[in-house]
Amino acid sequence: MSIFDLLGVKPIINAAGPVTRLSGALMSEEVTEAMAEAAQACYDIAELQAAAGRVIAEVTGAESGYVTSGASAGLLLGVAACVTGLNPGAMNRLPDTRGMKNQVIMPRSHRNFYDHAIRSVGIELVEVGISDRYSGAGVRDTEAWEIADAITDRTAAIAYVANSNSRPPLVDVVRVAHERGVPVVVDAAGQLPPVSNLRKFIAEGADLVCFSGGKAIGGPQGSGVLCGRQDLISGAALQHLDQDVLFELWSPPKSLIDKSKLPGAPQHGIGRPCKVGKEQIAGLVTALKRFVEADEDSRREGWMAKVKEMAGGLSAIDGAEVTVSG
Ligand SMILES: *Cc1c(COP(=O)(O)O)cnc(C)c1O
Repeated sequence: MSIFDLLGVKPIINAAGPVTRLSGALMSEEVTEAMAEAAQACYDIAELQAAAGRVIAEVTGAESGYVTSGASAGLLLGVAACVTGLNPGAMNRLPDTRGMKNQVIMPRSHRNFYDHAIRSVGIELVEVGISDRYSGAGVRDTEAWEIADAITDRTAAIAYVANSNSRPPLVDVVRVAHERGVPVVVDAAGQLPPVSNLRKFIAEGADLVCFSGGKAIGGPQGSGVLCGRQDLISGAALQHLDQDVLFELWSPPKSLIDKSKLPGAPQHGIGRPCKVGKEQIAGLVTALKRFVEADEDSRREGWMAKVKEMAGGLSAIDGAEVTVSG
């Protein structure tokens, strides 16, 4: 008997794409097989993460990478790393950020429901500029100089949500941020395809970028990618990995966590509730490789075939007028 019969839940026709409330997309057999294989053995999870991180670094052009439980988790972990650096004491105190760099600047028009993940680190979100172009009368949005103007010695990071309409341009934000030594964290959750976007934001100077694993990448719904600066990925890993360790016996992979730089091991961190299993890591890496290798034309043809099939079915409905565009 299928588990869904047992639960009494019927499958639905999902015509909306990989949205979370409809349980995401379907995964390829290759991905589900990798997940099933992972479920049949045990591994050191930090070692698995370090290995997955090497694959992520290769396909994104970033120094380092990490598998998260989603783009939102990537925002939480990434911003936490920007706030604490590699200081285990600060990690243990989160979300109490007193005495730390605890402000994150965000262009006002980038605000969205997912930034709760950023706020949950315990920072103060500082909104900058006015999205006047949406007023009907105006043409301007937040400008890079306004972000520069808002940077203080309490600024931990700039948060930036990437889409084709985002203002100011990321390169300008990176320029003013880096002039003051402030990292830029990019939410690029749904900015794939094109595959080239895996590298784009890193190439434009972002310090951390997060993607959803369960959207176009085709990985498990509860997976994501965080990539960027080695020290920040290390800070994220330290606040995510299970920390039931004795410092003397603890030997994390050096490429992920350089133990010699730490006075001791942090406790379970603020990211620990966003746990990632070996099945997610195996599935995400497999899906990511497939995503990078698939050519853009055949991906598009696949989508068009689905759209045409749906259009064919729908146009059989009496009175329906169906056109396929794009
Ligand atoms: C989908 C999305 C998220 C959340 O991604 P998850 O992988 O579901 O955590 C965050 N930000 C934006 C802009 C998104 O589109």
